[in-house]
Formats: sequence, C-alpha cells, structure tokens
Amino acid sequence: MYEQADIFDRCIEDAVRFHGHLCGGQIIGVRMALAGLRELRMRDPRGKDRKNLIVVVEIDRCATDAIGAVTGLTPGRRSLKIKDLGKMAATFVDLSTGRAVRVCVRESSRRKGEELAATLFEDMGDEREASFKALEIMDEADLLDIREVAVDFHPSDLPGHPTHTTVCELCGESILDQRETFLQGRTLCRPCATGRTYYSELPGQNACTDFAANS
Ligand SMILES: [Zn+2]
Ligand SMILES: [Zn+2]
Repeated sequence: MYEQADIFDRCIEDAVRFHGHLCGGQIIGVRMALAGLRELRMRDPRGKDRKNLIVVVEIDRCATDAIGAVTGLTPGRRSLKIKDLGKMAATFVDLSTGRAVRVCVRESSRRKGEELAATLFEDMGDEREASFKALEIMDEADLLDIREVAVDFHPSDLPGHPTHTTVCELCGESILDQRETFLQGRTLCRPCATGRTYYSELPGQNACTDFAANS
C-alpha cells in the first residue's frame, strides 16, 4: 500500500479531506506518520497490519488528524491515543513485535524551515506555498527526531471489548476500563474521588431527559 512514489501526495490528499484544510500540521503529520510506519516496516496499516498498530499522539492539533488519516487509526477503536502533552510527537507501536518508535519534531526544524522557505520564496513568490514546500522537502533528519522506545500498555488500554466495568458508589455512573479509583474502601470515579472535573454543575438544573418529560 505504501510503496508508490506518489505516496506523500496521496497521503496529503487523504489528510486534507479528513482535516478540512491544507496546513503545516497536515504536512508535518503525514511525514511523521510515514516515518513511523517505515521504521516499524508496516506497509498496510489499514489492512493486514491494522490490528497490530497503536499510535500515541502527544498533541491534539492539526497533525493529529493527519496521523489518523494516514494510518486509518481512530480513538474509538482505541488504536489512536491522544495523550495531550502539547508536543509535536507521536509513538508508533507494533503490538506483534513489541517494537515502538517515537517520532518528535525537532525544535531546530522551525528555524531551518523558515530559512528554506525564504530561499524557496525567491522562486515561488508565494509565502504560504513556500513554507509548505519547505516542510515537505526538508531533510527528514532536520525535521524529525526518531528513536526506538519501549511502551508498556496496560491490558485495559488495548483495543477489544471492555475487560472490566464498575459503578461509582457516589454518582452512580458506569466506569469502563479500570478508570475507577478506591478511596476509604469505596469504588469511585476519578471526579468523585478528587472533587475535580472539567465541568461544574449548574444550580437548579434537571437532567435534560427529566426536563423534556416534565415540559
Ligand atoms: Zn490544520
Ligand atoms: Zn462518581
């Protein structure tokens, strides 16, 4: 699948279709994905390698979509994991061999990209296109730091049916995949255990379903 010379262009097309626009993140994300697949010697992530590949992406921005588009992996299948550390990096893991490769955009690539874009601009005359071209043709060694790493997934993080489901003793909501915690002998969801969550309840609000039923 990933052997043709025009592979980069085809991947960019897929990425732009999925993401909605062409941007530097699509170009960088496609290069990250192709590098990761190559290092794992995976040619067919949507076919025969599909069940073996997991990618952990360290950012939730444009490049994340490009990596999903090229590999065909998705969060819903638990094969694309977003661990938002705010870094342009992703780790590609081959479950069949245990090999893992972390691909990180080098900080120094920003300056090198700008220099290359300035040179290309003289011929191209379009600043945006020159900056995209620079990201496309920059030497991979200048753009990406690629190194083998070890990743140890917990069974509850792997694709497949949930191995374990429980109910929070405080809020009564279900918790899948061993995301519960234990506090003073009680099984609790993390928000109930820590008192911290990303949302806050509004006073005097019924559940939407109750509200609909009563109106
Ligand atoms: Zn974008
Ligand atoms: Zn709870």
